[in-house]
Formats: sequence, C-alpha cells, structure tokens
Amino acid sequence: MTTGPVGTSSAAALSGAARAVLGGLEPVRGWVEELYRDVHAHPELPHQEHRTAALVAARLRDAGCEVHEGVGGTGVVGVLRNGPGPAVLLRADMDALPVREETGLPYASTVISEDGDDEGSVMHACGHDVHVACLTGAVTLMAQGPDQWSGTLVAVFQPAEETADGARAMLDDGLAEIVGAVEVAMAQHVLPMPAGFVGSRVGAVLSAADSMRITVHGRGAHGSMPQAAVDPVVLAAMIVVRLQTVVAREVAPGDSAVLTVGSIAAGSKSNVIPDHAVLQLNVRTYDEATRTTVLAAIERIVRAECQASGSPADPELELFDRYPLTENDAGVTDRVAGAFAAFFGDRAGVLPQQSASEDFSDIPRALGAPYTYWGIGGIDPAAYSRAEKAGRVSQDIPVNHSAGFAPVIQPTLDTGIQALVVATLAWLHR
Ligand code: ZN
Ligand code: ZN
Repeated sequence: MTTGPVGTSSAAALSGAARAVLGGLEPVRGWVEELYRDVHAHPELPHQEHRTAALVAARLRDAGCEVHEGVGGTGVVGVLRNGPGPAVLLRADMDALPVREETGLPYASTVISEDGDDEGSVMHACGHDVHVACLTGAVTLMAQGPDQWSGTLVAVFQPAEETADGARAMLDDGLAEIVGAVEVAMAQHVLPMPAGFVGSRVGAVLSAADSMRITVHGRGAHGSMPQAAVDPVVLAAMIVVRLQTVVAREVAPGDSAVLTVGSIAAGSKSNVIPDHAVLQLNVRTYDEATRTTVLAAIERIVRAECQASGSPADPELELFDRYPLTENDAGVTDRVAGAFAAFFGDRAGVLPQQSASEDFSDIPRALGAPYTYWGIGGIDPAAYSRAEKAGRVSQDIPVNHSAGFAPVIQPTLDTGIQALVVATLAWLHR
C-alpha cells in the first residue's frame, strides 16, 4: 500500500495534474450549481432517493462511467476506468431530513412527504445535496482529463446516511463485488465553517453512536398499596441516577464519552403503579474500548438495579441507530492533508473533532481499505467572521440539521469539487 506524505517531485506532478484537471471547472460549474439547486429543491428522505439517483446516474453516464443503479435500494455506483493503477473510492450521501425549511432561499424545498409514517416537510438540512453536486462534478472533471491520471475512480452515491443503514444496505447488495479491490476510500461533509476552508484530521474525527431502548419490568398495583407492587418508576429512576456514574467513574479522564437518557416513559395515572417502564438513551464515544466499557456498564447497572428492586422478569435491552466510529487512517490523512496544503494554502487546516456520527466508514471497513473523511466549510465567510468577531458563532450560524442551514453555493461547491479531485489525484496522478 502506498501511503504517507507526498514527496517533492511527486508533489510538483500532483499540483500540475490538479491544475490541469481543475482547469476544466469553468464550463462544468454552471450545471453543477443547477444540479445543486435542483436537488436542494427536491429533497428525498432516506431510502427514497429515486429522483436524485436518476439525476446522478444520467450525469455519470454522460461522463462515460460504467453505472450501477439500485444498489441497496436507491444507491448508485459510477466506475471510471482509465488504465493501470489503484482504485480510489469516493462516497457522497444523498438523503434529506424531515425538517421544514426556513432558509427563505429562492430554491428552498417545498416538498411534503406523503409516505405514511413519514408525512411532513422534507429538507436538505444536512447538506448532502452539496455532496451529490460536488462528487458529480469531480467525476466529470476527472473523466475530461484522462491524460493526467491512471487507475480507477469509483464514485459511490449512498442512500440513507441519516438512518445509519444506507452504507450497510449497499454492502448487503453486493457493493464489494461491484467495486473490487480499493486502495483508499474518502468522503467529505459540508459543515458550519467558512466556505472555502477544508479541514482534515488524523484519528477519530466523528464519534461512534449507539442508542438503546431498555424495558424494565415491575408488578402493577393500586397506588395506595405499594407493598403489593414492584414499582418500575422508582426502578427506572434509580437506573437513571446510577447511569450518571458511568462516564464520571468508569471512563478515564483523558477519554471522552457522552451518555444521555433522552426518554423515560412509565404509567398513565397518578394512583396506579404501572407494570413496566421504558428508557431510551444515547451514547457517543471516540474509541472502541471506551464504547465497549460504556455499553457493558449500562447493561450491568440495569440488570443489577432490576435485581435490587426484585423485578419479576429480566430487562430487555435493545440497541438501535448504531453508527460506527469514524477513525481516519494516519497515512492516508497525512497524504491528503499535504495535497490540500499545497493546493489550498492557508484555506486548508485541521478539522476539530466532531460529535456527530456517520455510516461512511462501514464501506471501507467492509472492503478492507484505509480511509479519510474531511470537512468543507459552507458558511458565507463574511457572515462567519462577523459572527466570530461578535462572539456569536453558535447563536448566529445555522448548523447542520437546523431549518436555517443554507450553505452558500460558492465557494462551497468549487471547494468541494477541488478537494475531491486533489485528494483523488494524490493517488492517481501520472
Ligand atoms: Zn445529518
Ligand atoms: Zn450529513
């Protein structure tokens, strides 16, 4: 495997190739922006990305890719073969969120989902429309500059990142057979940072996330006769209090974890002791050892508290909405960061660790490929610096998943395309 920083002569070749490929950006920019506005105005919920997938597939075909549609439901894979060399996988997610858009943009979503349980407004509130437009543009530029590189570019357009199961769906549907051996996998996310900025980070960049639904059992009785009951309300309360000791007493001071009980439900009337309680909690961790420690501690505490209360049946613990840890490979990330620094200058830097989570890493993990995941800014730089000067970044800058999240089209899209091309050429340039 070839990883590590780019050497000097190789760096000159890389920047020459990047300049040549990106020289084709001007005539591509118009339709990429149009594609972005179109996808933004027509967001689709997880596993329903049919329209978006069709738009992507058409562009990939125009670019000369071998195109695979319907992978894992609505996933699309474009394969661009250009002679001998390694394969580089780039991934963009395509899904939107059940949020009512309040950006006031001329291309704002007015989409209302009519799909049974999912009825309501839909919005690209996480910026996956940016990812779709940038990757489509980057593949097109690479296709137009075949003399500058050699190898295979694999573009994966993934459904359902927001439900943590889109990458898995594509893998279960034969993604590994479609893409074959991959040297490296990469993905990017637009974030509430100044547009034009690109940030990379070695090691854990996004947290692992686990949600758990816990049902504990008691014995119901009249509220006036507690001696006849095993009270699940008191039991659940003891569990919530005791869980506060997990991060405080079982996680080392240098490690970090978050454990939040976000929901607790029991009973329906003041004078009836119910027969069960349901707790739902969410855990975020940045390494597998801490994750294992925290999840094991939760189970131990729940079972012990049930026993302490004389609970008549075993508790049920059910994990759901699980996201893997996103832990960037050091060699891959250093190489990409070096290429970014050479191309973007002081617009490239270190990405702070993010508390959000992603299912992208399921793909390289299944393929046995090292990976890196970087962030690009999407906020108007002038607005960002005003907010920064006023010490009001967290109040004034809308973040991903909020109804006001509205990346500026430029320089966001140009930067996303440039980052994908530069990172790809760090492996494939001639
Ligand atoms: Zn999101
Ligand atoms: Zn996202």
